[in-house]
Amino acid sequence: MNDPKLSEDVVGSHLEVDVRVAFDTQKRMALGVLIYPFIWLINGIGSGIFLEQPLLFWGALCLFVIVAAIRWLHLRSLSRDDGFNIKRWKSWLIWLLMPHSLLWGGLFAYSLQQPNSMFLMLMTFSTAGLVPGGTDNFAPNLKLGVFFVLSMILPAILVTLSVTHQWAMTLLLLVYMFFILDLAKRQSQAYWGSLNNELVLAKLSRTDALTQLDNRRFFDEKLNELCHLTSRNHEKITVAIVDCDFFKKINDSHGHDVGDQCLKHLATLLTKCLPRTTDICARFGGEEFSLILPGTDVEGARLVMERIRQRIESTPLKLADINLSMTVSIGSVSRVVKNYETNLPTQLFKEADKALYRAKETGRNRCVFCVYDEVSKDYLILDS
Ligand code: GH3
Ligand code: MG
Ligand code: MG
Repeated sequence: MNDPKLSEDVVGSHLEVDVRVAFDTQKRMALGVLIYPFIWLINGIGSGIFLEQPLLFWGALCLFVIVAAIRWLHLRSLSRDDGFNIKRWKSWLIWLLMPHSLLWGGLFAYSLQQPNSMFLMLMTFSTAGLVPGGTDNFAPNLKLGVFFVLSMILPAILVTLSVTHQWAMTLLLLVYMFFILDLAKRQSQAYWGSLNNELVLAKLSRTDALTQLDNRRFFDEKLNELCHLTSRNHEKITVAIVDCDFFKKINDSHGHDVGDQCLKHLATLLTKCLPRTTDICARFGGEEFSLILPGTDVEGARLVMERIRQRIESTPLKLADINLSMTVSIGSVSRVVKNYETNLPTQLFKEADKALYRAKETGRNRCVFCVYDEVSKDYLILDS
């Protein structure tokens, strides 16, 4: 269901957007799939067609009920569970809509040829209501909306043109059809426009404006979420803080603009050192960056943190007149989470900060690691 109207940079994952759009479609269509049998029942009884043409009435009613039940079950089958195939769910939408809208379109066309004027009036009135309502429901999927409008109205246009020869009705139906198609297009644009705006705002609210890394708000949320997930699976987790050494000196000697460029440079290097999509790298504030490495123990943390430290040390920022070398100190904490403790996120961050302080205290440009000791139930800073 991806649509070119979404800006590429706001789409975190196409699957997430597809799932979101599928759930929106489900919500919008829920009432629509059930409405046909009811309206047909009212029209059939109200116009006396159920007595005049019982076979047609009961036959159509049965079909409407069966298709409505299948469509309802299909809509309910949408789930966020792993392995759910959103593409298959989406393609069934059109195959299940087809019998409903074609049957209704056919019955509407049939009503135009009937002497029972009440039947004609009720069918015209309900078709005029069903079509824009359905069009709104299909806003996330314009193709579905267009198919729906055409199948509801085209049979009537063909009948008035070639069987009943009511040219005024043909013209009216044509005008109505084009008007509704235009409405469908505008509703689809409005849906995708507002989804795009929502994604842009969501991205802005979790992004650091200078470095384009995740910001502190996102980091806090993610740390909380990952602590829960990690404790549920009795998994390992590492949290680290990377702080630029003597950053104030860079600002003081070269100005804030250069300082800002250094921060961007650091952000790029950090991102390159963390290729796993599950790792989180945020700008926590100032010249401090915070990392979450789910599933990583202290051995893994050693590899990653040393890689970061060395890469930053060996990659100066190249400016027009100078090469600016930087170093970082890193404090890192790793533990296996057996049970979720209420203040676990705060605890981990505090221990990483303590390790960072030790790294600064003991000379900077180094990594200090901390682990949770299950025996003493306390965090221990490792000496090397
Ligand atoms: P240490 O090795 O102990 O970490 O020393 P430091 O100078 O890096 O530490 P300190 O925390 O004293 O300095 C951080 C500096 O970061 C101070 C502040 O002016 C600067 N800073 C914070 N945010 C920004 C920013 O967005 N842009 C720039 N250019 N500088 C910033
Ligand atoms: Mg610093
Ligand atoms: Mg600092």
